[in-house]
Amino acid sequence: MTELAERLSDILGPKGWIPAADARPWTRDWLDRYGAPPLGVARPAATAEVSAVLAAAHAAGVPVVPQGGNTGLCGGAVLGAPGGVILSLARMAARGEPDAASGSIEVEAGLVLQALHEALDGSGLMFPMHLGAEGSAQIGGLIGTNAGGSHAFRFGMMQDLVLGLEVVLADGTVWNGLRAVQKDNAGYQLRRLFCGSEGTLGVVTRAVLKLHPAPRQRATALLVLPDAAATVAFGTRLRAEAGDVLTGLEFFSEIGLELALRHIPALSYPLGTRGGCYLLVEVASASDCMPLEDILSATLEWGMGEGLVLDGTIAASQAQRAAFWRLREEQPEGQRLEGAQLKHDVAVPPGRIAEFLRAAGALCERLLPGVRVNPFGHLADGNVHYNLSPPEGAADFDGRAGEIGLAVARLATGMGGSFAAEHGLGQAKAGLADTLRSPEERRLMRALRRALDPGETLNPWALAPADGG
Ligand SMILES: Cc1cc2nc3c(=O)[nH]c(=O)nc-3n(C[C@H](O)[C@H](O)[C@H](O)COP(=O)(O)OP(=O)(O)OC[C@H]3O[C@@H](n4cnc5c(N)ncnc54)[C@H](O)[C@@H]3O)c2cc1C
Repeated sequence: MTELAERLSDILGPKGWIPAADARPWTRDWLDRYGAPPLGVARPAATAEVSAVLAAAHAAGVPVVPQGGNTGLCGGAVLGAPGGVILSLARMAARGEPDAASGSIEVEAGLVLQALHEALDGSGLMFPMHLGAEGSAQIGGLIGTNAGGSHAFRFGMMQDLVLGLEVVLADGTVWNGLRAVQKDNAGYQLRRLFCGSEGTLGVVTRAVLKLHPAPRQRATALLVLPDAAATVAFGTRLRAEAGDVLTGLEFFSEIGLELALRHIPALSYPLGTRGGCYLLVEVASASDCMPLEDILSATLEWGMGEGLVLDGTIAASQAQRAAFWRLREEQPEGQRLEGAQLKHDVAVPPGRIAEFLRAAGALCERLLPGVRVNPFGHLADGNVHYNLSPPEGAADFDGRAGEIGLAVARLATGMGGSFAAEHGLGQAKAGLADTLRSPEERRLMRALRRALDPGETLNPWALAPADGG
């Protein structure tokens, strides 16, 4: 055992220190693309232990990578080279009571998102963050990536839902910023700085989260549309009609539906019509005064009259609502089960989604004829998961993956969008960030990183340690 391993084992005890030989379950990322054998896995049970671990690793100059639920899709929560420490927050999963009068709750970073939802059930309050990985993703990881998900267009990304934070810095210093108010302009917005920092600036240990009133009524519809242009046109009208009560506007494609139905037998498709595009629409309100179904059916009728909607149905039960959502949420799994895949998480201005899909489709077809494009995502904020499967019968992307990735990223940024919408950069997009970020942006980020972690022991492989140029 190395000196540092011995020291960490002393600090954390047998429950809190997993030696290298037993560390396998923490070593690889969700998509099994990244990871290296660690010195061991630290599983602290309190902020003071996180602080002691970071101070010891800092003194020894050994890298530490914070890990939440390890559901990140860019390889940010595992090591990029052997010998570092994985710092799992899973044992720090306590939560306080929801404060209904203030609309907030204090939680530890290791709390799993679904556990938070379940804890709030029946309280009249909700935490409006929903994503396919909510059964494993933790609050600290969601803050680390500044997660978005299906409700972000209405309630914001994680940075909009965090009121206060407690963070342990690289040398073990504890910053207590656990304020519980939205309005706090006493200097730089430190809490926001840590949202999306992917474990490179500090380790989040506690957070005060903003809660919203839980819906008293809800209506969910599944619609079939001819193509992306019709989907954008219908989505624009629906946003104007539904306003604040629109809480879900998710799209997926015919190829995505086909793959999901082929590979996941538990799924069923409730309509007789198929089209080029599908929309999952949800409206919800904490007030029970407004007839929500009326908004949906009136807009649906308008869409059919205009030829924008081919078919549609409104969920008649909670079970049917869950089945509609599952069709959308199983899109990544359907594609994974098909074989090799190439994932892109881009954002473009929502009004330009159809234009982006047309141009990106032509680009990809030119680079790899026959490549199968399976775009899905969050229509209202322009976040497109532009995922590809190899041409029918081919096992991979014929060495063109890097070229395709760069072309798609350049197209999105050129349209006023982003090449990293909600999954972050991690190790997967570190190189891309170095290529696409301006020198000014690289310098700013480098300066922040140096100021908070001069020794670069915190997750040094994520976000590209740019050369300062
Ligand atoms: C099926 C599926 C669907 C998904 N859907 C969405 C979606 O709709 N929207 C979306 O945004 N993401 C989505 N994701 C990606 C993923 O769930 C999110 O990135 C999530 O925020 C990761 O949380 P985690 O706890 O698993 O973090 P991890 O993967 O463990 O870590 C992610 C990053 O945060 C850092 N980190 C972890 N904990 C801390 C901490 N306590 N302090 C500081 N840094 C920390 C890590 O070092 C790493 O860089 C999906 C993933 C899957 C598998």
